[in-house]
Amino acid sequence: MEYEPVIGLEVHCRISTKTKMFCRCSNDIFGAKPNTHICPICTGFPGMLPLMNEEVVKKGILGALALGCEVPAFSKMDRKSYFYPDLPKGFQISQYDLPVSEKGKLTITLSDGTSKEIGITRLHLEDDAGKLTHTAGGTLVDFNRSGTPLMEIVSEPDIRSTEEASLYARQLQKIMRYVGASDADMEKGMMRFDINVSLRPKGQKEFGIRSETKNLNSFRSMEKALDYEIKRQTELLESGGKVVQETRGWDDDKEITVSQRSKEEAAEYRYFPEPDIPPIVVTREMVEELKKQIPELPDAKVAKYKEMGLSDDDAKIIAGDVKLVKFFEKAAEVSGSPKKTSNWLLSELLGHLKASKMTFYDNKLSAENLGKLVKLIDDGVISGKIAKDIFEEVYSGDLDPEKYVEEKGLKVIEDTEELERICQETIDKNPNIVADFKGGKEKAIGGLVGKIMGTTRGTANPKSVNEILRKLLA
Ligand code: ADP
Ligand code: MG
Ligand code: ZN
Repeated sequence: MEYEPVIGLEVHCRISTKTKMFCRCSNDIFGAKPNTHICPICTGFPGMLPLMNEEVVKKGILGALALGCEVPAFSKMDRKSYFYPDLPKGFQISQYDLPVSEKGKLTITLSDGTSKEIGITRLHLEDDAGKLTHTAGGTLVDFNRSGTPLMEIVSEPDIRSTEEASLYARQLQKIMRYVGASDADMEKGMMRFDINVSLRPKGQKEFGIRSETKNLNSFRSMEKALDYEIKRQTELLESGGKVVQETRGWDDDKEITVSQRSKEEAAEYRYFPEPDIPPIVVTREMVEELKKQIPELPDAKVAKYKEMGLSDDDAKIIAGDVKLVKFFEKAAEVSGSPKKTSNWLLSELLGHLKASKMTFYDNKLSAENLGKLVKLIDDGVISGKIAKDIFEEVYSGDLDPEKYVEEKGLKVIEDTEELERICQETIDKNPNIVADFKGGKEKAIGGLVGKIMGTTRGTANPKSVNEILRKLLA
């Protein structure tokens, strides 16, 4: 029998705020010494009162609106009780029946060019737990992460393959970065996935029984875990076995999923409204205000860039990274030539960074100066070759190319009299080459052109030089 995978993703993104969700501890915890960003509130001391960070609500709603979600006027926080050493409160503050948003969608573009809509069930707010590290000497706990704000984005079971899941997760990351709701930086633990996978015979409408594999913290491990679960369940069903509904974990070394516990029911968490936090009332004005903050999103950017003359590939590379987007748009505005700007950005600048084993995040050149350089070429003030020659220096000092070219005298020689003088001088100095040319060696003229390009440091136009030489030698 042929089976079809049914997949639903739960994605956690850390909301990018200055401070944590209910206290004033810094939310910038990456790389910090363990237990240095903590206070009685986020370490769950008895009697402490949490206070909702308004920015968490605003950025969460911003993310939700970017996914086309509805934002009800009333929502609330709930306690989800469970015991774990990284959760000193004994409960997580999450949202149960009245999330801050629901019913959105996200469009992915498949490799065959078709697009597909994946439904978003809800986006809700919750706080994160601390982090345990198991060592030979015992288990260590770091509470820096506890109380940091998360948005959990739950998809409908609309995903049908690992490829679709991967595209969905990557698109989600881009959108959250575009709107500034989350930096969604996987290396910094800002984005994690739970994957829900079931199989059903092809053509069947009802869903099969699912497993849920929790806490995948990279695209790669998410993709591997999906492939593994699909294979495991297929083999199980084909050999007459049954999938059990359970929670599984991912073993990154062995690259397998392992059973952890039977799936818990909502009732086991004893959800009840969080008594210390008032309900979240969202006015329509606030929603309108936030909607205005949503920039053009990745797909719209790709379409716009292609209209500007960029290739599909180039448009997608730039639109794929909100930092590149900002840089490109500024540089193109300065140069007035988007296509050339994208070439210089993607080939020269990124190529240069890559050669020095750096990424765009290490870039020192301002968008303005790249734009100016492109404009100098475009206006015919300098040759493309000169531009490439001076790129390294302009880049490393973030120099103003206009000033640099002026100071170094690198402008194209437009004065024909001046060029004729240089050509005549070169002819006089190189009687052997001239003799070769006159004797029928057509290619010998290249030697003269080369010498002139050398004396003018590339500022002569080789085509004009060629013409003038032929005229003088005729
Ligand atoms: P819970 O919060 O208990 O994990 P939900 O019902 O909220 O459960 O579902 C969580 C995720 O599981 C959602 O992304 C949903 O789309 C997905 N899902 C639900 N049923 C299935 C199924 N049969 N196969 C695959 N995914 C499923
Ligand atoms: Mg779940
Ligand atoms: Zn705190």
